[in-house]
Amino acid sequence: MSVHGKTALVTGAGSTRGIGRATAHTLAAAGWDIAILDLDEASAKEAAHEIVERHGVQAVGLGCDVTDEASVDNALAVLGESLPPVGALVNNAGITSPTPFVEVTGEEWDRIFAVNVRGAFNVTRRIAPGMAERGFGRIVFLASVSAERGGGVFGGVAYSAAKAAQLGFTRALARELGPDGVTVNAVAPGLIDTDITGGALEGERKAALVAGIPVGRNGTVHDVADLITYLCREESGYITGVTYDVNGGSHIH
Ligand code: NAD
Repeated sequence: MSVHGKTALVTGAGSTRGIGRATAHTLAAAGWDIAILDLDEASAKEAAHEIVERHGVQAVGLGCDVTDEASVDNALAVLGESLPPVGALVNNAGITSPTPFVEVTGEEWDRIFAVNVRGAFNVTRRIAPGMAERGFGRIVFLASVSAERGGGVFGGVAYSAAKAAQLGFTRALARELGPDGVTVNAVAPGLIDTDITGGALEGERKAALVAGIPVGRNGTVHDVADLITYLCREESGYITGVTYDVNGGSHIH
């Protein structure tokens, strides 16, 4: 089966070394046209340009704050005019924070939830009806091993709670959209080498974390991108409501 003539929308795919950017590439290599929404407009456009050059598919990158409904509306209106309908949505935009619970403020808590949960809601709420109407859709959430094992990697309680919220979101939405041909799954990466920690996880702390990973290394963005692209295939239509671990065995349950 072919994904030709379908768009995969990846949020937060601007980040050069990020999971979203790598996923946009693997989806494009599989034949999807690509839409990228990122807070950083320049990186979103640069990513789209790179994808067109490397894979010969259509790609559009736009600046968009997923926490802001008007910003999402504007971006989706532009996409609607320039690309085929969205067949796959990867809710990848996310932020983390290591702040200990006894120090976290309400503002920081809200910000973590705004991007990871409300941001995913803002985009999914607008994309899902069209998918259901067309009878096909693939939605993937970027959760985290932190949601399953109670932090212990980098993110604190706010991050772990927001990522756990995504798991409930995934499961309930899978139940609701299943009859319409739309699957909804989550991937839960362990420690992946990207810039999300802003360089705050290096040296001894990182070495100690890697020592606890059975496969003996941290993950690469490719490890995660391949899994997401697999879940977005047309042939993956009987997989829904699932959380896929991609953590090198750092959390086995
Ligand atoms: P990253 O920081 O490299 O990329 C995140 C991207 O999201 C950036 O391009 C950023 O500009 C964008 N973004 C942030 N806020 C946004 C907003 N309000 N609107 C639109 N875009 C916004 O991060 P990454 O490591 O590639 O992480 C991607 C996803 O995977 C995140 O949801 C993260 O929580 C999750 N994750 C990462 C790891 C890891 O170890 N790196 C582990 C588990 C889960």
